[in-house]
Amino acid sequence: MHGQKIYSDNERYKHYKKKKNRKRRGVFIIAVCSVVLLFLSFFVSQKIFEPKVNNEKPNAITKSNKKNDTKSGGSIIKLSLKTNEQEIKFAQPLANEEYQSADPEKCVYLTFDDGPSKSVTPLILDTLKKYNVKATFFVIGSMAEQSPDLLKREHDEGHTIGNHTYSHKMNLVYSTPEACVAEYEKSEGVIKSILGQYDSKLIRFPGGIFDTDKNRLIYRQALVNAGYHYYNWNCSDQDSDGRVPSGGYASSVLLDWVKRTSLVGNTTGQRLIVLMHDAPAKKTTAEALPSIIEYFQSKGYKFKILR
Ligand SMILES: [Zn+2]
Repeated sequence: MHGQKIYSDNERYKHYKKKKNRKRRGVFIIAVCSVVLLFLSFFVSQKIFEPKVNNEKPNAITKSNKKNDTKSGGSIIKLSLKTNEQEIKFAQPLANEEYQSADPEKCVYLTFDDGPSKSVTPLILDTLKKYNVKATFFVIGSMAEQSPDLLKREHDEGHTIGNHTYSHKMNLVYSTPEACVAEYEKSEGVIKSILGQYDSKLIRFPGGIFDTDKNRLIYRQALVNAGYHYYNWNCSDQDSDGRVPSGGYASSVLLDWVKRTSLVGNTTGQRLIVLMHDAPAKKTTAEALPSIIEYFQSKGYKFKILR
């Protein structure tokens, strides 16, 4: 017994309690750490996997290059908007004779593609009426077949109707030059049958065909040879830039894009052709339209229609 420590019952109990508390504390710390780790991993995974477009605002605009278009006599400035993952190209619309000789005053052409749609086109028409602004609608033939009353309304209210193919299916439109021409002819037939009379050859290409789109130039040439004339754009609300979150960009973001792109992409700053869409899902475009119109009014632009 000599040298051996003798514990009393009380001490033994205290020792046991201490041990138990230590164990409890350990379990508690492990539980807290697990919860913290769980939260951290959830947060990190959200950061990694959330679509980057959701809260994304346009970044700085950078000028990429400049070259002269000797054919039209005007100059083309190709610009790009650098975003996180994508570069969106803008080019001066390839000016045809009519565009070149247009009024020299500061003017803006609002254009709406891919309609008419029952959900968005009436809202856009209401706003245009309210502000007494005329616009240009590049309609899809198959959409017009579904909403002939809306096509009539666009026409009756003084807006220009342009042709934007019958199906808008890229693999069909850009399969052969003949198929491309046929797409426009079919759509033209639909527009004529609804409006009674329609002799315009005004068109826009799905996705646009700029000088830099080398693979598509044969289609553009085919349509020009067939007597059509086309317009691209040099300003846009980016409502269909391929990164649009479901539900569309907020209207404030669309306005922001219009402001930014209106400051680039044209040599004079005088004439802007604004690309927007009145397709079924583009509700925020309709929401943004009043502020877009007010912005151009505040900058002294006159609203015009393409012919
Ligand atoms: Zn389109």
